[in-house]
Amino acid sequence: CGIVGYVGGNQAAPILLSGLSKLEYRGYDSAGIAVRNPDTEKIEIVKTKGRLLPLIEKTDEGHAVPGTCGIGHTRWATHGEPSELNAHPHCTEDQSVVLVHNGIIENYQELKDKLVKTGYTFYSETDTEVATKLIDYYFKKTGSPLEAISRTMLRVRGSYAFGIMFHDFPGKVFAARKDSPLIIGKNETGSLIASDVPAILDSTRNVFYIGNMEIAELSQNEIHFYNIDREEIEKEMVEIKWDA
Ligand code: GLU
Repeated sequence: CGIVGYVGGNQAAPILLSGLSKLEYRGYDSAGIAVRNPDTEKIEIVKTKGRLLPLIEKTDEGHAVPGTCGIGHTRWATHGEPSELNAHPHCTEDQSVVLVHNGIIENYQELKDKLVKTGYTFYSETDTEVATKLIDYYFKKTGSPLEAISRTMLRVRGSYAFGIMFHDFPGKVFAARKDSPLIIGKNETGSLIASDVPAILDSTRNVFYIGNMEIAELSQNEIHFYNIDREEIEKEMVEIKWDA
């Protein structure tokens, strides 16, 4: 239901939590954040069922999950009951891919059956976990995040906004969308993603609109946009003039 992501020079978790709180009006049944710890090089994932407050408490307002690169999500369950297990971010066992998703993957059952045959185990009832593991499948095959994401976009039917981290690509957040909203923001300290403008208005007024079937690659100082054929495309920065 709500997505926020940040990579830059500041601590990510407080930005994610504050951004998610700005999206509360959309309603949700669970919430979670993933932040890469620079010391352990592990991506720490914390999730809670219910409101944002328990997540804020569980992470000690973000202090318990140090790191400057992360993604966060508030979930409105469509596939699988509201629970901590089904809450996002979802990941592979080796944390190769960590992902948040808004929308619905319509052909998830068919994709899940195929992935199970190739050896993947599923722990949640969500359509989102299928997208996570399909990206991992293509990533392990190609070694390229962009190729893994674009191939997945061509295989899944339905609607999605994705925020994605790859363990092997520290300092990067990837985003992609089709028929679910997602915007990209930029300020002096770093780069952001969000499912709606109010989530990042405290951080920046400079945004890029990412189109259907497009991919964004964010790092602290740079943002690149690609079409589904992985050709780089140019985007104009837009200044948000209104207040939330
Ligand atoms: N379909 C996904 C799920 O049920 C995402 C729902 C959402 O947009 O929050 O987990």
